[in-house]
Amino acid sequence: MNDEGKNEILHLTPHASRLTEVFHRLAARFGPLHWWPAQTPFEVVVGAILTQNTAWRNVEYAIANLQAAGVLTPAALRAIERGELESLIRPAGFFRQKAERLQLFVEHLFARHGGELATLLAGPLDAVRTKLLACKGVGPETADSILLYAGYRPSFVIDAYTRRLFTRLGLLGGDESYEAIRALFMDNLPHETDLFNEYHALIVEECKVFCRKRTPLCAPCPLLAVCPYGQAAVAA
Ligand code: SF4
Repeated sequence: MNDEGKNEILHLTPHASRLTEVFHRLAARFGPLHWWPAQTPFEVVVGAILTQNTAWRNVEYAIANLQAAGVLTPAALRAIERGELESLIRPAGFFRQKAERLQLFVEHLFARHGGELATLLAGPLDAVRTKLLACKGVGPETADSILLYAGYRPSFVIDAYTRRLFTRLGLLGGDESYEAIRALFMDNLPHETDLFNEYHALIVEECKVFCRKRTPLCAPCPLLAVCPYGQAAVAA
């Protein structure tokens, strides 16, 4: 089976059935979200690097600065002086580290792929993911965000929200590795980019509105009927 060939409906395993039920409950509550507000695939890459260890609203300020300066292209980001880039992305925090990572990424893009993001993102999914992970500062969450949102490839994105929600739902123990959590989704859902995109957006929305870190709102949560943690909390 090729990397994007796993499109049969995997509803036979208990995990597949529970993941599907969670998706449908969230979709019914929050509706289509059509996530990742970016105008170009390259802007997705920049956002995926800038959002490391910071809230998205801070990234928006940095992206707006880059747009206003006209440097949201690989060539312009490669050419801009490091100090100027640092000051443009300062609102996103860790600006020195992130400026270095952005410029290392575009250097890699020009050195190996002619400056073309589409060339980097073409080819078998696992091979592209390995190439992305080889870029300094690109960890698995960033790589999967780039694959899913910039490359339109079915690679499930795992973040802290995913870990928290599915631990409370009883599908995770809480201390699994990133790759183990990703495998839960990759092995039990059809490999459909739109599904992965929407599912991740729904997880984020659920965790912002109901499954909050310190004070989850379990009683009105759309997942209460399938959540042991929430049922115990409500009963108590
Ligand atoms: S019922 Fe509570 S713990 Fe369970 S998913 Fe909803 S908010 Fe989170």
